[in-house]
Amino acid sequence: MTTMQESQPPTACILSIGDELVLGTTLDTNGRALSIALREAGIDVIEHRTVRDDRAAIVAAFRVLAGYASVVISTGGLGPTDDDLTRDALNQIIDDDAPQVEDAVARADLESWFAGRGRAMAAINLRQAMRPRSARIIRNLEGTAPGLAASIGACRVFCLPGPPREMIPMLEAEVLPAVRPVGAPMIAKRTLGSFGIGESALAEMLGARMTRGREPAVGTTASGSVVSIQVVARGADAAARADREVAECMAAVAPYGFGSVDATIASTLLDECRARGRTLAVAESCTGGLIGSMLTAISGSSDVFLGGWITYSNAMKEAQLGVDPQVIAHHGAVSREAVMAMARGACERSGASFAISVSGVAGPSGGSLDKPVGTVWIGLHDAGVGAGAGVSAGTGAGVATHARPSTHARRFEFPGARDIVRDRAAKTALQLARWLLRGEHAPILWERA
Ligand code: ATP
Repeated sequence: MTTMQESQPPTACILSIGDELVLGTTLDTNGRALSIALREAGIDVIEHRTVRDDRAAIVAAFRVLAGYASVVISTGGLGPTDDDLTRDALNQIIDDDAPQVEDAVARADLESWFAGRGRAMAAINLRQAMRPRSARIIRNLEGTAPGLAASIGACRVFCLPGPPREMIPMLEAEVLPAVRPVGAPMIAKRTLGSFGIGESALAEMLGARMTRGREPAVGTTASGSVVSIQVVARGADAAARADREVAECMAAVAPYGFGSVDATIASTLLDECRARGRTLAVAESCTGGLIGSMLTAISGSSDVFLGGWITYSNAMKEAQLGVDPQVIAHHGAVSREAVMAMARGACERSGASFAISVSGVAGPSGGSLDKPVGTVWIGLHDAGVGAGAGVSAGTGAGVATHARPSTHARRFEFPGARDIVRDRAAKTALQLARWLLRGEHAPILWERA
């Protein structure tokens, strides 16, 4: 006989239990962590549900979710107090409210937990050693609330404690090994970042890849002006097909795409500089050090990123970067000429092989008719082949450096509040720096001629 679990990929539902989650005072990070871990283990997460510390609500949720998922994992409500109702709710469903039994291992763990801390165990804590007769306990080595494992019909149910530092080790040690499908991963998920293009334009570039029901599935999500592309492949060779799909998506959305999973535009730029033996400096005005911060957030950036200037006043732009006062007098500090001079100055004075500069009106004040709030100029100066301090090139990737020094600048109008304008300006500068290295050029969503 073929069971459902053998013939179809397992599905999971996540049940988060707690008043504080429903009221919004605690963010449900468990739900997120569980979803990620389960998907990586090849289990399709089909629903999240959050209920209050209310026994009837917990019972109802378990019954519904167990009706259509092969695995349900709950977190929270396993403590010793009256509002911890997960154990009783499970007992009602699987053992019809029969008296619970004390679990010898759970009791020994509780006693040694308190003894190990030199504390007397309150009688109330003994409730945590109780379990429904048809359930088994999942040991908790980081806290006092053991978890529970049971079955509701054909569905396997795991109840884990709320605190993430207790929940995660139990998930990894007990739950994932128990539910992970045998053999190759049945679901492989990959993420690819893109910047500088809107979600719908990106979808057009991806074309039929995004058709609903296609295998592998390709979708997009936007956050912090970065549009991510998610690839989910299912089946025995899921990992290889997901990797292939990511490479094809990367080619389809070039040059907007950058690295995958934990990569940022900054980390990708640093890798690309390293591969080409290039070093970088920055000259920042309205971004106030944000670009330097994004670069130095990446460990090991010092071999590529030499440093930079925050030249907020005109006087600093002139004194520190050698910007000609006439340039600012004639064109203003927010101008093509000013950012080109800033980038050139930063490059020459740092000895870097190329530099990026930013000057703009981040708002909310300071805008004018011809330079409204959000207007930002970004400049790039390339010292040319052989110039500037270098790092030894890693992979021998193609060098797009100009033979002679070159400078150019582009103008943007970023919509949004001050912090969004600054964030978009910094990320755009990093993306333009990547394109300079790679010899690529493309329109950017917020560009104004
Ligand atoms: P304990 O006995 O340690 O209290 P418990 O299973 O009873 O375990 P809860 O009392 O429901 O857990 O929650 C304890 C704490 O765990 C909460 O105050 C909250 O800080 C954290 N927590 C609970 N659920 C979540 C969740 N879904 N995401 C993130 N944190 C959570």
